Amino acid sequence: VAERPAAAPGGANGRFGVEISHPERVIFAGSGTTKGALAAYYAALAEPMLRWVGNRPVSLVRCPQGRAKHCFFQKHDAGSFGDAVGHVAIREKKGGEEQYLVIPDGRGLLTCVQMGTIEFHGWGAPADDVEHPDRLVFDLDPDEGLGFSEVASAAHQLHDLLGEMGLRSFPLVSGGKGVHVVVPLDRGRDWPAVKDFASRFARAVAEAHPRRFTANMRKIERRGRIFVDWLRNERGATAVLPYSARSRDRATVAAPVSWRELATLPDAQPFTVEDAETLLARAAGAELRGWGEADQTLPDL
Ligand code: ATP
Ligand code: MN
Ligand code: MN
Repeated sequence: VAERPAAAPGGANGRFGVEISHPERVIFAGSGTTKGALAAYYAALAEPMLRWVGNRPVSLVRCPQGRAKHCFFQKHDAGSFGDAVGHVAIREKKGGEEQYLVIPDGRGLLTCVQMGTIEFHGWGAPADDVEHPDRLVFDLDPDEGLGFSEVASAAHQLHDLLGEMGLRSFPLVSGGKGVHVVVPLDRGRDWPAVKDFASRFARAVAEAHPRRFTANMRKIERRGRIFVDWLRNERGATAVLPYSARSRDRATVAAPVSWRELATLPDAQPFTVEDAETLLARAAGAELRGWGEADQTLPDL
């Protein structure tokens, strides 16, 4: 075996049978986080992460030379990941079919990291039935300068409004600026019905609370408010998946939190890839028991 540079402490070389090249390469200049450390993070979080990543068409944010250099959002693939990553053929709006990525296991996950992936985004529907969403996501995008306590309290308000309709929802801090309110669904409805619900709900919320929310994506409409980004809920749209690292300054992570915790957080970035052990313990702990799980049908709106 040829000599290789040693992985960073706690490096993941060889985990799930995937060799990480250039584990010493710094991917996040802000925190000095290396490719080896990122791989170690994903290897540690593989099990809880695959509950959300596995069996779902995924898109990747890849930055092969680190996040300061060229990054791209990859939706389709013609086989460049070898047999570690699967595919599902999906009919495109504009006609024809494209191959979307499906990551079945830890080997697939680490292969993506070896290929320069930082972020994992997912469709709102499972790969074995892409026309029937299994979740809604309301992505709360605050205007610049709006405090996080306002975002958290807005998320709580959505939670309450959804609750009045009999829907349970769960908060995810994005690792960026906002919160995603995730609503698990049985697969009883198709995309047009789910998008219609998301759009009507967002508009109704913005009409009832115009000082706090807007359902219009135009930045000019945001001014001191929060855009309820309901467009995550149309066929082909993606949202960042739980435990994905973010291509941001400090290698922050999109993380599930409880409603109780959300009220206490200073920002949407409480965790980074350095917090693998904490996140792993939390994923199996009491605070997040049942997070993202609810067998519920979308009501008529
Ligand atoms: P933040 O809390 O900072 O808003 P976010 O993940 O919600 O973080 P958004 O800018 O609101 O970021 O993006 C919402 C979603 O749009 C992303 O999670 C992703 O799935 C999708 N997305 C991001 N970049 C692209 C892209 N280049 N092409 C298509 N979809 C993208
Ligand atoms: Mn957002
Ligand atoms: Mn958004």
